[in-house]
Amino acid sequence: MIKLTKKAVRLEKRLREYIIAHEYIHTLVMENGHGEMWQQLMDMVMPDWRKRHHDLFWIEKGVWIDPKAIYAAEVGNVTAAN
Ligand SMILES: [Zn+2]
Repeated sequence: MIKLTKKAVRLEKRLREYIIAHEYIHTLVMENGHGEMWQQLMDMVMPDWRKRHHDLFWIEKGVWIDPKAIYAAEVGNVTAAN
């Protein structure tokens, strides 16, 4: 289960969607981090995810999910490739 923090809940919808898609893809991919498979799946479910990631990064760092949830926020690890 992905639990958003109170701060994340207040973000605009497209950024909340990005956070949820981001964490959901982590649950599907066995590898850690944001490798090729993770990025390919993100491209499939949310073709503009890099733009959303970029916007979220500059709005506020570390607002994503409850630290007690499965995956820790690691927004700084996503490289805006391509
Ligand atoms: Zn991640």
